Amino acid sequence: MSCQPYETSPGQLGALLLAGAAAGSGSAKDVLVVDRQIAALGDRARSHPGARGARLVDLEGFVLLEAPAEPHAHLDKAFLAERVRNESGDLLGAIAAMAAAYPSISGDDITMRARRALGKAMARGYSAVRTHVDCNPLVGLSAIESLVGLRDELDGLITVQVVALMGRPITGRDGEASRRLLDAALERGVDVVGGAPALDPAPSEAIKVLVAAATGAGCPIDLHLDETTDETVMNLAVFAQEVDRHGLGGKAVASHCVSLGQQEERRAREIASLLAGAGIAVVTLPQTNLYLQGRGAPVRVPRGLTAIEILREQGAVVAGGGDNWRDPFNPLGRIDPFETASLLVSAGHMGIGDAYSAVSSLARQAMGLAPCSIEEGSQADILGIKAASLEEAVADASEERIVIKAGRIVSWTQVVQVAGH
Ligand SMILES: [Zn+2]
Repeated sequence: MSCQPYETSPGQLGALLLAGAAAGSGSAKDVLVVDRQIAALGDRARSHPGARGARLVDLEGFVLLEAPAEPHAHLDKAFLAERVRNESGDLLGAIAAMAAAYPSISGDDITMRARRALGKAMARGYSAVRTHVDCNPLVGLSAIESLVGLRDELDGLITVQVVALMGRPITGRDGEASRRLLDAALERGVDVVGGAPALDPAPSEAIKVLVAAATGAGCPIDLHLDETTDETVMNLAVFAQEVDRHGLGGKAVASHCVSLGQQEERRAREIASLLAGAGIAVVTLPQTNLYLQGRGAPVRVPRGLTAIEILREQGAVVAGGGDNWRDPFNPLGRIDPFETASLLVSAGHMGIGDAYSAVSSLARQAMGLAPCSIEEGSQADILGIKAASLEEAVADASEERIVIKAGRIVSWTQVVQVAGH
């Protein structure tokens, strides 16, 4: 298998004629890409003036999909699972393991692992990744510096959004150092304010501090909220109220929201309605939360998922992400949108089309990115994958993929199968 960035010169974008592939609907068509956009589809593609001199890319046997986006990753921790052990296997075990490991993790180490993860993300089709990055007195700004640097280095190949994941506490006198760090992280150019208020001694106050900071900086906000199956933990109503009060609707994300999935149905519906009304998108993270939550329950194990169906019914944007990629929070993770989509189908009971939307168009919406599609006039962020249909793509998750970002081939993975002996 070969898997490397495809060589093109920035600024010299040749036209591409993607020939013979099926679009999501299953009908065979050609797609002409000119100057970062889809210029023409089907019969019009070859007769379009922009097709003259276009590079022909034979994609017979492929399906073309709008490129996926990863709305919630932790690139600073990627690939640490074998070095940093989580003895208990739960959330607090993972947090404790990371705290003990910080002194042995340098900025170069973070950059190297994050670059490797982003390389895989590009090969698997992601056009954008939002990464939460630890920012606390133990690690200081070193992880932020690494990820901001990578974001800028890879500009044009993959969109990286850096979220300052503030440590706890962020409130009270003990939170002073973290609040100063947040100011410094914003100064350094992070894109989004983040944190985990449910772990703070004063969760409601923590939400207020973080929402106020995002508002002051003119940034979106994306919080880890209620990452527990304990139904008595519920901070979403306060978040909805604060987002509404500060006019952050459409720029706010509640990640995890696991305890929402443990509420009585009527209560879950009320909270889901508040989130939808406030313009808060929810990001569910099936693999990590199925791994971390529900331990210690040998029977009737609760699923670590939010109330996906009720949220969608109430009109909330629900996106799906991978969260941790092989670290103390989750030893697995192929860095693959089809892995997340597959889990949303089997564990979240979503239909295959809805599951793919959750890792593509709805993920983009949660991240504040412009929409894209396999339509004329759309920005050409395209994943081509060897499959006859979207259903087969999600189920089979072939490694044979071509990835186009803003009209440029950024990765092309070809598989050679040798038959016989
Ligand atoms: Zn997370």
